[in-house]
Amino acid sequence: MRSSLRQMVTCMWSARRLQRYLDADPSAPLTPGEIARIEEHLAVCAKCADSAYELHALHHALAGWSQRPEPDEASLTRLRGYLDELTGSPRGPHGQETP
Ligand SMILES: [Zn+2]
Repeated sequence: MRSSLRQMVTCMWSARRLQRYLDADPSAPLTPGEIARIEEHLAVCAKCADSAYELHALHHALAGWSQRPEPDEASLTRLRGYLDELTGSPRGPHGQETP
């Protein structure tokens, strides 16, 4: 019981740092001690290792997505028309019916 509680606390601790660990964010770096503790935990905890893998895959997907070319003019025009339609509708700014 005590060990599973300890495990849970470590999971939460790791989850809160996983993003920064994977990002290696230079503005919010983890200490070498924190990195060692996360790596130690990922080696023994399948749940957090899975999360780390998913975050890592997500990072790759997002990196690929942001490198896509700018949307073409036709899509932008369509989007503007759609927004005009939304804002020009008889509904108020918060979606409620106007009298
Ligand atoms: Zn864990």
